[in-house]
Amino acid sequence: MNKERHDINHDHELEPVAESSTTKAEEAGKPPYLIEEARSARARCKTCRKKIAKQTLRLGILIVGPFGPGYLWHHLKCAAGRLPERVQEAYEQEAWRWATPIPKVPSLESLMKLKAQAEERRATRKFPPYAERAPSGRSSCKHCGQTIEKGTWRIVLGREVEFGSQVRTTPINVLPAHVKEVLQEPDCTSTSGDLAATIEKNSGLTSADFTAVLTAIGSLD
Ligand SMILES: [Zn+2]
Ligand SMILES: [Zn+2]
Repeated sequence: MNKERHDINHDHELEPVAESSTTKAEEAGKPPYLIEEARSARARCKTCRKKIAKQTLRLGILIVGPFGPGYLWHHLKCAAGRLPERVQEAYEQEAWRWATPIPKVPSLESLMKLKAQAEERRATRKFPPYAERAPSGRSSCKHCGQTIEKGTWRIVLGREVEFGSQVRTTPINVLPAHVKEVLQEPDCTSTSGDLAATIEKNSGLTSADFTAVLTAIGSLD
């Protein structure tokens, strides 16, 4: 609650229910949820913090602030991922019927499927170092700039990058033959001693593929 109050007081993201004329939502005495196409691009999504583009579907959750009731907005898709119970309630109340015009909304099932897919992507996300076959011919070796051909092995190594006061690991694509050189760079997060074991652990390869990867990398000594 503290956080919400802070938002209302300081960042002017709370939009009045009606921006132009009186809406049905206004007449209905501000229902707890409102699903509509954004009438402006002024509001920021409370889930992803990005601006909600005009005419994008958004979910408004009514809160009562010091200046009266108002909606905090989320992209409908963001809300489905982070606040599924709220989205479900909004759908049960058919929260789009207060909007002018009434938007076409995706089914609750398809929204929840998006959420499941996003969770699965997060769960199967790999962390460097790992080996994979290049899914396209669009990546290139960070070491030399040479294109990594589609279907050939590429090694994804971690590189430490400073963001302000934080150090984060960012993945970089490297041709197997150039792994040895990149390992010697001071910002590389792998060492020749642990590379093979961590690639095996992180990549989910068959033993034949793992052997092929090690052969392509060659000797690290
Ligand atoms: Zn969002
Ligand atoms: Zn290279």
